[in-house]
Amino acid sequence: MTTTLVKNGTIVTASDRYDADVYIDKGVITLIGQGLNLPADTVLDASGKLVMPGGIDVHTHLDMPFGGTTSADDFASGTVAAAHGGTTTLIDFAIQDFGAGLYPAFEGWMKKAEGKAVIDYAFHMIVRELSDQVSIDMDRMVRHEGVTSFKLFMAYPGVFMVDDATIFKALLKTRENGGLICMHAENGGVIDTLVKDALRKGQTAPKYHALTRPTRAEGEATGRAIALAEMAGVPIYIVHLSCSDALEKIKQARDMGLPAYAETCPQYLFLSYDDYERPGFEGSKYVMSPPLREKWNQEALWKGLVKNDLQVVSTDHCPFCMNEKELGKDDFAKIPNGAPGIETRLMLLWDGGVRAGKIDVHRFVELVSTSPAKMFGLWPRKGTVAVGSDGDMVLWDKDKETTLSAATHHMRVDYNPYEGRVVRGGPAVVLSRGEVIVDHGTFKGGAGRGQFVKRQAGRPLVPVGRRSSYERTA
Ligand SMILES: [Zn+2]
Repeated sequence: MTTTLVKNGTIVTASDRYDADVYIDKGVITLIGQGLNLPADTVLDASGKLVMPGGIDVHTHLDMPFGGTTSADDFASGTVAAAHGGTTTLIDFAIQDFGAGLYPAFEGWMKKAEGKAVIDYAFHMIVRELSDQVSIDMDRMVRHEGVTSFKLFMAYPGVFMVDDATIFKALLKTRENGGLICMHAENGGVIDTLVKDALRKGQTAPKYHALTRPTRAEGEATGRAIALAEMAGVPIYIVHLSCSDALEKIKQARDMGLPAYAETCPQYLFLSYDDYERPGFEGSKYVMSPPLREKWNQEALWKGLVKNDLQVVSTDHCPFCMNEKELGKDDFAKIPNGAPGIETRLMLLWDGGVRAGKIDVHRFVELVSTSPAKMFGLWPRKGTVAVGSDGDMVLWDKDKETTLSAATHHMRVDYNPYEGRVVRGGPAVVLSRGEVIVDHGTFKGGAGRGQFVKRQAGRPLVPVGRRSSYERTA
């Protein structure tokens, strides 16, 4: 395969919509035009389909050690599942070990992906302590390795949590090297105290995971992270924002013109605290951090997506099978945190967003592909359909109906948080660098074909301004 011609589709990007053919040569789009009649090794008919840039998921945890176990999807199964859902690039998290620099983690995660990944990938570095070595390595990561973002935690004391001084120093570092700090914003000290208190009272059921992580703890940490970034004079990106309390902090900051950015995830748009009240131990399926919130928060998050107070929808894909969730049968604090979602992001956002009339197709593309690319130094190589961009594309079928279920999904986990939910709209054909990797539900790619992508440093290319209106065109 060296050349591919996609004919008769309707190209939809974050800004444009037009009928045209796309020609991809050696993985890169070299020609877009009407009535193209070039010879190609592969010719695809996209009649009736929308031709959109492949999804970019900037928050996944494949093959990740957590609480004595490991997330169920590795870079093989996880990227195959991603591809089935129309995602063609992901950014995963490599975790620094205590007492080590960043290179062992970077090399370790490169090895995890090598020979396995079927779509392109990049890494954020999780920084757990800021030694002199780590400080030097942060510069090296940005300047030499194309690893331009770092994740810090304000929660999980003793495991990931760093103090304000460390956060501030890391922020200052990015001012010099053009990297970006991603923040898990929850007040770990408060949560830890509430968790111990609950367990002392014998409150061990899964729902107490949510009840010990109040929205105020997320709001407070979000506000603090933004203030620290403001004092350091750098942008900040809040990961998996889950509630109105935290969104208000982002809105305030953006009203002041500060480059404060945030992502949310489908679980916070479509699931709620009510799922913890399911019978038996079923609530454990939804144990993740931040937890699912009271349902009314969903509407606030949708408004945030419409107005560009939230710029990205990622997944925080971190699946654990039920036998591992069982580790917390008698103690919710021992339930591995995380849920699957890498495969269902686009379908859910299309069905619940575009079809429901909340966002238009362009905003959809922006949220799942273009803004993630612009935020994390992948644009314009990724995140759009344009001459010079990689041939990462989804031929989207607006009428495709899918029943989300563990019985049929490709994620290596024995439950689906959306079990039985019917979604309309889904990928018919998925291309990665011009190669068809999913063809109407059949996987065609090869293990290890995915490539590591070096990213560019510098301020996120996503505007701080609001979107004043949106048009419904789907
Ligand atoms: Zn995460």
